[in-house]
Amino acid sequence: MKEVILCKYGEIILKGANKASFESKLLKEVKRRAARYGNFSVRYMQSTVYVEPLDEAAEFSVRELYGTVKHVFGFAAVCLAAVCEKEIGAICRTAAEYLPEKLRGAVAFRAEAKRSDKRFPMTSPEVAAEVGGAILDAMPDLKVDLDHPDVTVRVEIRDKYAYIHAGQEPGAGGIPVGTGGRGLLLLSGGIDSPVAGYMMMKRGLFVDAVHFESFPYTSELARDKVLKLAKLLTEYCGMVRVHVVSLTEIQEAISSTCDEPYFTILLRRFMMRLACRIAAENEADVLITGESLGQVASQTMKAMCATEDASTLPIFRPCIGLDKDEIVRISRAIGTYETSILPYEDCCTVFTPRHPKTKPELDRVLAEEKKLDVASLEDAAFAKRYHVDVRQYEYKKEQNNAE
Ligand code: ATP
Ligand code: MG
Repeated sequence: MKEVILCKYGEIILKGANKASFESKLLKEVKRRAARYGNFSVRYMQSTVYVEPLDEAAEFSVRELYGTVKHVFGFAAVCLAAVCEKEIGAICRTAAEYLPEKLRGAVAFRAEAKRSDKRFPMTSPEVAAEVGGAILDAMPDLKVDLDHPDVTVRVEIRDKYAYIHAGQEPGAGGIPVGTGGRGLLLLSGGIDSPVAGYMMMKRGLFVDAVHFESFPYTSELARDKVLKLAKLLTEYCGMVRVHVVSLTEIQEAISSTCDEPYFTILLRRFMMRLACRIAAENEADVLITGESLGQVASQTMKAMCATEDASTLPIFRPCIGLDKDEIVRISRAIGTYETSILPYEDCCTVFTPRHPKTKPELDRVLAEEKKLDVASLEDAAFAKRYHVDVRQYEYKKEQNNAE
């Protein structure tokens, strides 16, 4: 008996003429992950991607692969299923063999059938009744409950084969990464910005990241934490290039020259300008931040307007209308929370004003900024940038050399 993965399309079903380009991205992404786990066939038909092990080793790792396919954006639902010939005897035998493990602990079940192959000689209710009977023969302690089952068993009679599973799980949703272009995420190491990156990946963007540090005021541990967060995000997108830029000299210049209440807003304007330059160099068309309206002094509407004024690119802020609790919930669900709460300094938390301007007027901000040699400070910081490519899968040295 062979176990396969079925991945069912989400909203790309609704795409018109360009559906094929979405499908090919989706297929490529599943193939990339499958290659990591062994020899699999990956193909699509009827708005479903089928992932099938081609040898014993692959059969052994199909469940591990399933764990990562759940994180591919573009699927509404995924499931593991047993596959068999489209013949009622084979379907019942396979159900009786495959399902006891899946139904362990359940008291009541119901069986459903769906025929996308209408030439199959039985109706869906007839198939469901036969399969339900076979399950009861195999597990006589189970009960049938059509209204409140613990598990719903489904038989799908499709183009070539029949598939039997014990319920599907939600997929990652969204649309395939890369179908929407490229954005540059300002990744701070806090809770919000990894969530913002995840949310924009889910809407189809490739996401590069820029992290600003302020060594020695911020530590190497803080930078490693950001790289760890980027690594966690690769579970959803395969790879993140993290650009690192030092703001040390800029922060020292601001704090020795400008009015204290404006420190943070001036710093954030430098971040925007530098991020725009990095975006231009890497063909990213938008910036992404984890800002949420009113969360801190630099995220009031006025403060964000004064910050945004320094950006030549649109800024996507997917967390803008979320409460901290809602952001934390997403952060836990995507696996970044525990890393985000590690207690290291961020450059935004050094040289912080005791009384920041919560409603800065742009004129005043610009007047403060004029006290600085913005162009040369920015050029110097930009010149010292470097980047680290963070990949979901590490490859062995030999493979790297062969590339
Ligand atoms: P987060 O939890 O994402 O750190 P926050 O609530 O701490 O957010 P701020 O520190 O004001 O908020 O930062 C707001 C946004 O600015 C962050 O979500 C991030 O996009 C960006 N940002 C802040 N600090 C940095 C940094 N050191 N490097 C890159 N981006 C940053
Ligand atoms: Mg922060």
